[in-house]
Amino acid sequence: MTSISRLFLRLATAALVCGSLTAPSHAQEEKTAKQLFGGMKLPSRSEAEPLGFYAKGCMSGAVALPTDGPTWQAMRLSRNRRWGNPALISLLEQFSRDAVKVGWGSGILVGDISQPRGGPMINGHASHQVGLDADIWFTPKPATPLTVEQREQMPFTSMLDKSKFLTVDPRKWSRTHMNLVMQAASYPQVQRVFVNPAIKKQLCETWTGDRNLLGKVRPIYGHDEHFHIRMSCPPGATTCQKQAAVPAGDDCVKGLAWWFTKEPWAPPPKPDPNKKPVKPRQVMLSDLPKACAAVLAAPARVEQDATYGGAAAYVAQPASSAASRNINAIVKDPPPADDDVPTPTPRPAE
Ligand SMILES: [Zn+2]
Repeated sequence: MTSISRLFLRLATAALVCGSLTAPSHAQEEKTAKQLFGGMKLPSRSEAEPLGFYAKGCMSGAVALPTDGPTWQAMRLSRNRRWGNPALISLLEQFSRDAVKVGWGSGILVGDISQPRGGPMINGHASHQVGLDADIWFTPKPATPLTVEQREQMPFTSMLDKSKFLTVDPRKWSRTHMNLVMQAASYPQVQRVFVNPAIKKQLCETWTGDRNLLGKVRPIYGHDEHFHIRMSCPPGATTCQKQAAVPAGDDCVKGLAWWFTKEPWAPPPKPDPNKKPVKPRQVMLSDLPKACAAVLAAPARVEQDATYGGAAAYVAQPASSAASRNINAIVKDPPPADDDVPTPTPRPAE
């Protein structure tokens, strides 16, 4: 049915039910979830809660990472995706300070976090929907702060040698890169850190610290010019759907083997020309947790109120580091013997 005929049918139905012609009241329902959430400019004025799952949910009461801090800069500001659960924003600030301590320039460049009310996005990510995921560039913050324009235009730098199959480029990758990723994995509230399989392999071969931390570092497509930090559901967040725990140990054999087969990189099968192509079903608001409709409808907080620590709080940021653990100080264990038989695992989803 065309949208015109659908509109006509709805108007006719409304006329039958109400006895008068009224404008359609369900126009909102026709929009996809990513259109609805992508259109929100500010967070809801309510308690901060992750609602649903990382790849199917939304969030209330988000706060923004300030665009500039002493040890971070938010990138691609026009995307308006620097919103997250306060626990994540607080963690990112902590991480940015620890990054400097491990030698990562003058701090971190932060990519996408979430939209102001979370939810699915028009482009870019399957997850990042509940305010507990954040992307960090594999490029340190330069000493001279980037302008807004530079933050829009600066290209990504891949850590891979694209002339080889799944191989980290030693001209780009350094021990500091390793320490940065492992620093992210070291926080107890971080459940997963996503990196390219080549980077995970590199870490497996070179990391001499706590091998259990490597289990949190998960191989995934892409993620060769940035990595992705995922927090566990915060304590007491009953509306947050937990993800299964990562396997024990470093998961350097079983979890990695499949990525180094042909299967993950094979082109998708050609569609059958005799069959009508099936249009992928769009995620609608009704597919998300019920509370997400209320999140969309809730009044907005103004940006200044909703900026973590206050928008002007970062002229001088005191370093509170009670929870800080410098990765260099973590006890070093010998790497385990590789006696596992590699077995391909099902394709993981981010
Ligand atoms: Zn990401």
